[in-house]
Amino acid sequence: MKRLFEAAAYEPQPGNYWATTRPATDWPPLAGPVQTDVAIIGGGFTGLNAALSLAQNGVLAHVFEADRPGFGASGRNGGFCCLGGSKLTDSVLARRHGRADADLWSQAESAAIDHVARLLQTHEIDADTHSDGEICLAHTARAARRMAGQPGFLTLKELQARGLDGPWHGGLHTPKGFALNPQKYHDGLAKAAQSAGATLHARSPVTALRPTAKGWQLDTPHGIVTAARVILATNGYSSDDLPDWLRARTMPVQSSVIVTRPITPNEQQAAGYTATQMAYDSRTLLHYFRLMPNGRFLFGMRGGLRATPGEQATISRKIRQDFHAMFPAWRDVDITHEWSGLVCLLSGLVPFVGAVPDHPGLFAAMGYHGNGVAMGSYSGHLIANRLLKREPGTPAPNFLSQPPRRFPLGMRRRLLLAPAYWMAERLDM
Ligand SMILES: Cc1cc2nc3c(=O)[nH]c(=O)nc-3n(C[C@H](O)[C@H](O)[C@H](O)COP(=O)(O)OP(=O)(O)OC[C@H]3O[C@@H](n4cnc5c(N)ncnc54)[C@H](O)[C@@H]3O)c2cc1C
Repeated sequence: MKRLFEAAAYEPQPGNYWATTRPATDWPPLAGPVQTDVAIIGGGFTGLNAALSLAQNGVLAHVFEADRPGFGASGRNGGFCCLGGSKLTDSVLARRHGRADADLWSQAESAAIDHVARLLQTHEIDADTHSDGEICLAHTARAARRMAGQPGFLTLKELQARGLDGPWHGGLHTPKGFALNPQKYHDGLAKAAQSAGATLHARSPVTALRPTAKGWQLDTPHGIVTAARVILATNGYSSDDLPDWLRARTMPVQSSVIVTRPITPNEQQAAGYTATQMAYDSRTLLHYFRLMPNGRFLFGMRGGLRATPGEQATISRKIRQDFHAMFPAWRDVDITHEWSGLVCLLSGLVPFVGAVPDHPGLFAAMGYHGNGVAMGSYSGHLIANRLLKREPGTPAPNFLSQPPRRFPLGMRRRLLLAPAYWMAERLDM
């Protein structure tokens, strides 16, 4: 495979807290040839949602996951099931794609959260949900001034009264979304897809993808797959040559997370931070955090530009430094877990959910810009609907089906990130 980061970025993360919260699950690797209607490459939220929706509609669907179930970002994220998926503001979306599409995007963001909530309820998935929407915390007085006057604005005093004290200047509450345990959601989703009739294979990397007279052939180490149609659901773990069309069209970016030991009620009181509310700050390179109902604190931010030991150590220091700067009362609280994973940016800064041009029968859903718990799930469902030729009241702007352009610099395109981060850090001051 032709992937952008050093090998460490594609290895399991022993420090992943979620893996300790439930018994490990597995799916059998593919052993022998198989023929299917739809082969789905990648077993994260996108791939599993596509498989579930297809299987529920009587379509034979097989998922091929390179590693263990939940190996990718879907098993590593912060569990914020929230609005998002694009890096463009509403006004820029409207300017680029028209007001109607910008409005459809807002509806899709909201529908994506409702979609996950419905899945949890329908399939009785206990994913340790909590939080009434999320709060954006103003890291400067200027950011607070921009929020003031909007519905949901809270002064620092009001935040303190809600158990959200800290070095902020105010905040904006969005009463939509909730937090979840991503691996419990992933496990439940996998079970639901299997019960509906989908077949899931782990440890089955697709190493080659070729068009045939009747569709597609996929090679895996222990079996060849023939499929009428294929969905690429590989997101930040995509390979630049699977297929060649993908070359330089994705920008994988690392995100890092730490989790503390349970913080006692007294320690929470001492920090003035007692609310189990999903929160993030108003920086461009934002920090996202939440106190979980079991008292552990999860804190995430951007990861390293490279997956080398030196860069990992730098990020490890930086994430602690930022956590302690925001929560000095917890400076001595043990950090018990630490890991990172890859999210996926696309050049248009909106997801791609559609047909791959000039590749009949090949589809892709990817590029959620670090917000794919809800949007990745929804996009998997959307791409299944596209294959099923169904339009069952799922809002989707037209721009989602526009194929992403290539980034410049080919395999060296990560070089674009350093100046972008440098600039964002300056703007965040
Ligand atoms: C640290 C971190 C924190 C995050 N926090 C949040 C958050 O709080 N809220 C939020 O909304 N989003 C968050 N995200 C983003 C979110 O997790 C992702 O957008 C989402 O999980 C993407 O799902 P996916 O199924 O498209 O991709 P993934 O879950 O990454 O799955 C892709 C899968 O494809 C497999 N694959 C790749 N190539 C092949 C191949 N050739 N053959 C077979 N399989 C292959 C990979 O092994 C991988 O498992 C976070 C991400 C990270 C890394």
